[in-house]
Amino acid sequence: MRLNLSEILTNPGGRIPFRYKLDLSDLEFSGYCPVAEPVQVSGEVRNSAGVLVLTAEADTNLHCVCDRCLKEFSRPQHTKLNLILASELSGEKEGDIVLLKSDTVDVSDLVTSAIILEMETKNLCSEDCQGLCPKCGKDLNEGPCSCRPEPDPRLAVLNQLLNKQ
Ligand SMILES: [Zn+2]
Ligand SMILES: [Zn+2]
Repeated sequence: MRLNLSEILTNPGGRIPFRYKLDLSDLEFSGYCPVAEPVQVSGEVRNSAGVLVLTAEADTNLHCVCDRCLKEFSRPQHTKLNLILASELSGEKEGDIVLLKSDTVDVSDLVTSAIILEMETKNLCSEDCQGLCPKCGKDLNEGPCSCRPEPDPRLAVLNQLLNKQ
């Protein structure tokens, strides 16, 4: 969604609120598209004493695949944006500055980048997911499989010694 900022550019106190649904279902991330549900975006651009500030919140449910057990799960994603929109870089270092090329700003672009930045590189259905057995592929969250654990080679030597006695 593109906002036309011309009416608040020179109008301290002016604000342009926005609220809409953003479709990012085509956004591919590590081989699949996790943003399967529409993203609810709301916020505003305001002229705060001559500085344009964009604040927004984006909420959705991400559909993920667990790295360990390969199960699909969803988790809420809440992203906050707090950006300064400027037509040129000045000395101020507070917050992230977005350079405006015209009197408009593409809110969807900014929200999309923020969501990508917050995307976890690891996806686990739970912190203590047991994963799959590397031998038989059983989901160990549902209980132990019948594979025997690999014998510890040091124990094997010890057993041989004990058996000799
Ligand atoms: Zn898992
Ligand atoms: Zn197994």
